[in-house]
Formats: sequence, C-alpha cells, structure tokens
Amino acid sequence: MMYDVVVVGAGPAGSTAARYAAMNGAKVLLIEEHAFIGSPVGCAGLLSTRAVSECDLKPSDEFVFNSVRGAFVHAPDGQCLPIDGKHTKAYVVSRKNFDRTLAAMAVEEGVEISLRTRAVGLEKINFDPGTGGGEGSGSESGSKSEPKSGSKTRKNPGLKLPVLKNGKPETITAGVVIGADGVKSQIARFAGLGRPKTVLPGIQIEASYAPDAADFVELFPGSAASGFFAWTIPVNEKVSRIGLALDPRFVRDTGRDERLPLSYLRRLLETNPHVKARYGGDMLDFVVGGIPIGPPEKTVSDGVMLVGDAAGQAKPTSGGGIYPGAFAAKIAGRVAAGAALEGDLSLERLSEYDRLWRKGLGKELEIGLKVHDYIGNLQDEQLNELIGGLNKPSILETITEYGDMDHPSVLLKKLMLSGNSLRLMRVFGTFLKTIF
Ligand SMILES: Cc1cc2nc3c(=O)[nH]c(=O)nc-3n(C[C@H](O)[C@H](O)[C@H](O)COP(=O)(O)OP(=O)(O)OC[C@H]3O[C@@H](n4cnc5c(N)ncnc54)[C@H](O)[C@@H]3O)c2cc1C
Repeated sequence: MMYDVVVVGAGPAGSTAARYAAMNGAKVLLIEEHAFIGSPVGCAGLLSTRAVSECDLKPSDEFVFNSVRGAFVHAPDGQCLPIDGKHTKAYVVSRKNFDRTLAAMAVEEGVEISLRTRAVGLEKINFDPGTGGGEGSGSESGSKSEPKSGSKTRKNPGLKLPVLKNGKPETITAGVVIGADGVKSQIARFAGLGRPKTVLPGIQIEASYAPDAADFVELFPGSAASGFFAWTIPVNEKVSRIGLALDPRFVRDTGRDERLPLSYLRRLLETNPHVKARYGGDMLDFVVGGIPIGPPEKTVSDGVMLVGDAAGQAKPTSGGGIYPGAFAAKIAGRVAAGAALEGDLSLERLSEYDRLWRKGLGKELEIGLKVHDYIGNLQDEQLNELIGGLNKPSILETITEYGDMDHPSVLLKKLMLSGNSLRLMRVFGTFLKTIF
C-alpha cells in the first residue's frame, strides 16, 4: 500500500490534516487504532465558536448539545466572579459525533480510512530528494493503488509504516507520516522527536447537576485542582460534566493521595459546598486523559510531522486542544501534500510546517504557559485576592468585550492599557508587565 501522506490517529487533528492533504492533491490514508472514530472520549467537549469554525464546521444539532455564553469563576473562599460574554462563546459538544463529522468530511475529500489499524513502528527508506527512490521503493506488500495526480512524479518512497491491522502485521509505504496520535504519541517516539513539556492528568464525570444557569460554565481554580482548575460544564439544565485537571508540578505534598485526580474529584463532589448542593450523586459517564502543554522543540523530522496533542499544541490556560490542533493540522496537511508530491520529504522542506504553526500559535502558547505557571504558583489566599480584585464593573466590562478563550493575551493587554491598570498591577504584581 503506497500513499503520499499517511495520518496516524483519527482525532480532530488527524482528520483535519488528512482532509487538507487530500484537498491539496495527495493520496491520503488515515489510520485509527480503535474500531470506532471518536471513542473513547478524553475531553470535556467545550469548544469555542472559533474552534468549530476553524474545523470548517457550522454548529449543528449533529454534535452540539448546548451553547455557553459565560463563566462563573469560584474563588477558593467561595466568592464568585461572574463573566458574561453576552452572546454564545462556546458549544458543549458530543466529541464522538464531532470527531465522526470531521472524519466524514475527510472521506468526502478522498481520504481512505482504515480502522483497527495501529502504527507500531516507523522505518525511513530514503531521504535524498530527487534521487529517484532508494531501497524499498515501491516494493511494499499489498496493492499499488493508482496514485492521485501529481504523485506519479514523487521520486522518494519516504517511510515504511508497520501496522497491526485487525491484529495482523502489515506495512504501509508513505511519503510523509503525520503523527496525530494524541498525547501519548508513538510516532513522536519512533521519529525521535521530543515530548510535550508537561502533561496535566484530567478526570471528568457526566452526572445529574442543577446549574444556576445552563449557559454558564463554572470554574474552580486553586487547591480544588492544584496547578489548574476544576469545572462544571452544563450539557443541559439537568446534566453537567464535572471534572478537573492538575499540574503535578504544583501539587503540594500533604502526605495524602494528593497526586491522584480522582481524590480531588471526590473532594470536589463531596466537600465543595457549591458543587455538593447541586450534584445529584450519580455518574452517567467517566472520562480520563492527559492534556499536553508546552510543545517540544521540534515537531518535524525527515518525513514526519506531529500535530495536535502529539505536538503539545493544547492551550496552557484552558487545556483546549481542538482550536490549536485544527489550526496546525490545516498547515500540516497542506505542507505534507506539497512535500510528498514534490518528492522532497526532508526535514528542511517539512520545517515550513513547524515555522508556520509556531508563527500562528507560538506566541499565544508561550504567554499561556507563563500565565499557567503564574496562576499555578498562587496560594488560595492570593487567588481570593486576585479574583476579588477583578470583580469590579469596569474590569468585568473589559473582560466581556475582549475575553477570548483562544487568545487570552488580547484581554491581558487590554486590561494593562485600561484605567484599571494600577489596580491590576497591585493584584498581579509585575507579572503582567513581564509576560509581554
Ligand atoms: C479531561 C480533558 C478535558 C478536555 N477538555 C477539552 C475541551 O473542553 N475543549 C478542548 O478544545 N479540548 C479539551 N481537551 C483536549 C482535547 O481533548 C485534545 O486536545 C484533543 O482531543 C486533541 O486532538 P488530537 O486529534 O490531537 O488527538 P486525539 O483526539 O487524542 O486523537 C488521537 C487519535 O489517535 C489514535 N491513536 C493513538 N495512537 C495510535 C496508533 N499508534 N495508531 C493508530 N491510531 C492511534 C487514538 O485512538 C485517537 O483516536 C481535554 C482533554 C482532557 C484530557
């Protein structure tokens, strides 16, 4: 089996990268180790309006359960900061249906999908551009499908990708392999690329819950979820997703089982007065997973690109990975197709992807990491002070106007330039000055 581009992992980043590679003329295979697209789910399913449109989708009943326009931020001392975005800022989605919609769009563009197909290795064949192919060229097992236009001129066979398909070993030949295989990326390991800097362990249940407003999420920063935050996300008036993620670097060792997200979740459900009063005591669904923050130094090597969680592209402030993953996947698909059709699979050629995605997302991720670390380092008393300091009508108006889940730096800059900057400097110390 020979393809210009093989994408490993049919999550949102993989389906989007595959679709864009096909749209740019490549013959593309998308492989997924599971028997189903979009399952198991490892996500809270809160997608900004921008994340949905970045995936070239319009909100649809097929995957949207609910719309969200704001957040109640609950300080550790119980005070509440109401942030009202005034209009829809995000959707609560079925990740299963969302992922399937994206995979179907890829198929419409000509992508072949192979389920129950797990990548188990990676072997480089020949990387001299324009050499006319090397050892192993065109000699792989399976049929040689007629390439799409353009790929006849590809001189370089690229990579052998050993897979287990329905448990049986096979080998696929690829020009470029895009590793979209999530936070535990094997493709990153096979290609000798680095790991995301930190992985935040997360946990979530879906359960009966009576939110104060079904179009507001609730956030609980501080010791409710050390180094990150806990959340409730309303699916409807009766059911919410209740979860949290931790940053292990900021978990204070109390000698108890404090490193386990499950112990935090139990504590949130059983002892947080606000949550306890609204939680129905049941569990309809259970999700665990890791959120990678801080991309590795390199996301490309000869013939290989990483995208989405595999490339540590999730936002360090919210943990959202769909928007940045889709943004980068579109570039990855386009560059992979171009490189494969030119027959230049070199690191230099594929570096165009690394350069372009960092140009679009790099600064925001860098600022996000600083904000993440700053908040993670705060004690509960400092968070109480910070949240209290933001709870002023003029500041809330600025947050309403400029708050952006995907680009929090825009709001931070506006706050710095606002009439409240002196007050905010007292609250944030010199932090705001140092991050820009
Ligand atoms: C608790 C939690 C809550 C979250 N909440 C949100 C949220 O509300 N909003 C948001 O935007 N993001 C959220 N995220 C992050 C979001 O889930 C990820 O950023 C997103 O799923 C990444 O997409 P992806 O396509 O890169 O990887 P994934 O969605 O992880 O897809 C990777 C795919 O690769 C497949 N795969 C893995 N290895 C192989 C292999 N060797 N061969 C073949 N296939 C393979 C997997 O089966 C999987 O289907 C959350 C994450 C967690 C853990």
